[in-house]
Amino acid sequence: MSQRTFSIIKPDAVRKGYTAAILAAIEKAGFQIASIKKQSISKAQAEGFYAVHSARPFFDSLTTFMSSGPIVLMVLEKENAIADLRKLMGATNPANAEEGTIRKQFAGSIEENAIHGSDAPETAAFEIGYWFAGYELV
Ligand code: ATP
Ligand code: MG
Repeated sequence: MSQRTFSIIKPDAVRKGYTAAILAAIEKAGFQIASIKKQSISKAQAEGFYAVHSARPFFDSLTTFMSSGPIVLMVLEKENAIADLRKLMGATNPANAEEGTIRKQFAGSIEENAIHGSDAPETAAFEIGYWFAGYELV
């Protein structure tokens, strides 16, 4: 059964001109792009999105980074989309990411790591609803 996940091409990757290459990797892996938009987000919007990490030491730095430039927000669809996107992304720290993964190819550091992907069905539902209105997903 087809599943939806939420993804962001983070500001480091957009800045470096990796948007098209990352989208190509996503499509090559069999994902349909159900919806996509490029925008800059505020620090407060980033804080709401990453609220689950609010107690972490890197929260302030992470939300400053995420609001530092345009990002690409996407809803992606395929069978097993959530787990398959996490596999395609690679480990959070690019130093530990497997060969061929997006983070191995395009991430610069554990924070500036090129891409976000939802980690479970509940977080995918929250994240899609946080960034996309129902009318954008018909
Ligand atoms: P994401 O949620 O963005 O898909 P992830 O699930 O691999 O990434 P999380 O543990 O959820 O990783 O952390 C969220 C984000 O916070 C990471 O992608 C990274 O940008 C940043 N981050 C995580 N750990 C650190 C750290 N130790 N130092 C700095 N930034 C970090
Ligand atoms: Mg995460």
